[in-house]
Amino acid sequence: MSSSSSIHDDILTVLWSPDQLSHKVSDLASQITNDFSSSSSSPPPPVIVGVATGAFLFLADLVRNINLPLTVDFVRAESYGSGTVSTGVPKLSCDVKLDVAGKHVVLVEDIVDTGNTVCRLISYLEAKGATSVSVCTLLDKPARRKVHFELLGDGKFYSGFECPDYFVVGYGLDFNEKYRNLPYIGVLKPEIYK
Ligand code: 5GP
Ligand code: MG
Ligand code: MG
Repeated sequence: MSSSSSIHDDILTVLWSPDQLSHKVSDLASQITNDFSSSSSSPPPPVIVGVATGAFLFLADLVRNINLPLTVDFVRAESYGSGTVSTGVPKLSCDVKLDVAGKHVVLVEDIVDTGNTVCRLISYLEAKGATSVSVCTLLDKPARRKVHFELLGDGKFYSGFECPDYFVVGYGLDFNEKYRNLPYIGVLKPEIYK
């Protein structure tokens, strides 16, 4: 099977290289390891809950760098359909399998944009009885925030890079389910989605 065009040709600019991503992921993992390491004042190991599909690569790299006896689960939330503008009402289409009641949860997201998804998921985990909910997002687009969210209990907000207001793809992030396998994060050429 061969194809003359490459997925890399659809990228306008690379914002974060594999190396930059890997350094940031180790840094976030160290912060989580420190915050949950056993000492009399630290909480027990967290349940890491990834938001599928976008967070799958970030989560895979993150947990390999967290030195704790943690557990891993996924939820599925969809807010974009096939476009580049959030519909505002994220649909939860897959439940957690693990019992999070009485547990400290770290929600792992690819990107926090309007804040709708994270807000919806924090309420969902609160209703399931989680003791605290932290959010660990690789990218944050604060310029586009529409919803203010409160973390549950003594949950923390771990954030990798501040993302400029472009539609970005790669390292898990898609456009129409494509580009998730790019090893870097880049800006998609506008002619691809116009
Ligand atoms: P929010 O609910 O905060 O508006 O959006 C969260 C979800 O929208 C993210 O988890 C991600 O799936 C998607 N999203 C937001 N901005 C971008 C972007 O620039 N590129 C891609 N590929 N997805 C995005
Ligand atoms: Mg996501
Ligand atoms: Mg998407």
